[in-house]
Amino acid sequence: MRSFTYERARTPAEAAASAMRKPDAKFIAGGTNLLDLMKLEIETPAHLIDVNGLALDKIEPTQEGGLRIGALVRNTDLAADTRVRRDYGVLSRALLAGASGQLRNMATTAGNLLQRTRCPYFYDTNQSCNKRKPGSGCAAIGGFSRQHAVVGASEACIATHPSDMAVAMRALDATVETVRPDGPTRTIPIAEFYRLPGDTPHIETTLMPGELITAVTLPKPVGGKQIYRKVRDRASYAFALVSVAAIVQRDGTGRVALGGVAHKPWRVEAAEAQMPNGAKAVAERLFADARPTRQNAFKLALAERTLGAVLAEAKG
Ligand SMILES: Cc1cc2nc3c(=O)[nH]c(=O)nc-3n(C[C@H](O)[C@H](O)[C@H](O)COP(=O)(O)OP(=O)(O)OC[C@H]3O[C@@H](n4cnc5c(N)ncnc54)[C@H](O)[C@@H]3O)c2cc1C
Ligand code: SF4
Repeated sequence: MRSFTYERARTPAEAAASAMRKPDAKFIAGGTNLLDLMKLEIETPAHLIDVNGLALDKIEPTQEGGLRIGALVRNTDLAADTRVRRDYGVLSRALLAGASGQLRNMATTAGNLLQRTRCPYFYDTNQSCNKRKPGSGCAAIGGFSRQHAVVGASEACIATHPSDMAVAMRALDATVETVRPDGPTRTIPIAEFYRLPGDTPHIETTLMPGELITAVTLPKPVGGKQIYRKVRDRASYAFALVSVAAIVQRDGTGRVALGGVAHKPWRVEAAEAQMPNGAKAVAERLFADARPTRQNAFKLALAERTLGAVLAEAKG
C-alpha cells in the first residue's frame, strides 16, 4: 500500500473544501471497497478524508412524502428500517441480497453507490485495463467474459456495475444529493448519475472530482408488489450474474431495472410499457441493442427467465 495522509472531516463543507485543496484526496466511509483497492494499489490516494464523523447517518421523511437517506446510513440499518421495509421493499431486499452481514454493517449508502467494478482484470494489475489505467487496453475483451456486460458496453470496457442497492434505487427513481468541492449543493437523478463506459470507462459517474454525496432521496412510495431477485453462482457472498428489481402494480404495469448486465443499473422506460405483455416482450426492448460475447450470451436468456419468474411472482 502507498503511504497517505489522513484527516477526519467534521462537516460536509469541511470535507468538500479539503477535497478542493487536495486533488489526490479520496473520501473514506466504511472502507470495505476502498481499502481493498488501496492494498492492491489500484486506488492510490495521497490523502484520505474520513467522512464517518459527519452527521449523515439519519433516515428522515421528506416534505414530499418520501425518505431522505443520509450518505452514511449503513446498509444493515437501511435494510431493517421499518419505513423502508413497508414502502420500499425492493430496496430492503436488494440490500439483503448483497455481500454479508458483517460487510453490510460497515457499508454505507454513498460507498455502495460508488463501489468499483468486480471485473477480475481490473483487480489484476498485471493485466491491461482501461478503467484502471486509461489507454492500456481491455483484457476482458477476448478474455474471460462470462460475468461481463451484454448491453451498453464499448470497445474500451465491458465491465458491469456490481451494486445491488443501486439497481433498486434506479427502479425507485432515487435522487443523489451532493456538495461540490467549490461549495454549492446539487441533486442528481439516479438516471443521470451513472455513465456508460464509452471511451472513458474510468469516469463512472457524473460527480465532479471531490464532490461529496450527502444523501439519497426516495420519492413518495409508489406501492405495488416489490421484488428483487438475484441470480448468482452461489447462494450468498457473490455478485449478480443477473438481477431484477421490479415494482409491479395490480394491472400488470410497473417498473423494472436490471443488475449484472451493464456498466450501470439497466432500465429502459420504453420496455416497461410491455410489462402486461410478459417477460419476452420486455426483454426484447431491454436488450434491443445487446452485444453479448460468446461466453456471456447466456445472460440474455437468464434475464428473460428471471424477469418471467418475477412477473409470475408479482401476479401471485
Ligand atoms: C467480499 C465482498 C462481497 C461483496 N458483495 C456484494 C454484493 O453481493 N452486492 C453489493 O452490492 N455489494 C457487495 N460488496 C460491496 C460492498 O457493498 C461495498 O464494498 C460497500 O457498499 C462500499 O461501501 P463503503 O461505505 O465501505 O465504501 P468505501 O469503501 O468507504 O468507499 C467506496 C467509494 O465511495 C467513495 N465514497 C464513500 N463515501 C462517499 C461520499 N459520502 N461521497 C462521495 N464519495 C464517497 C469512496 O471515496 C470510494 O471511492 C461486497 C464487498 C466485499 C468486500
Ligand atoms: S472490462 Fe473494463 S474493467 Fe474489465 S479489463 Fe476491460 S476495461 Fe478493465
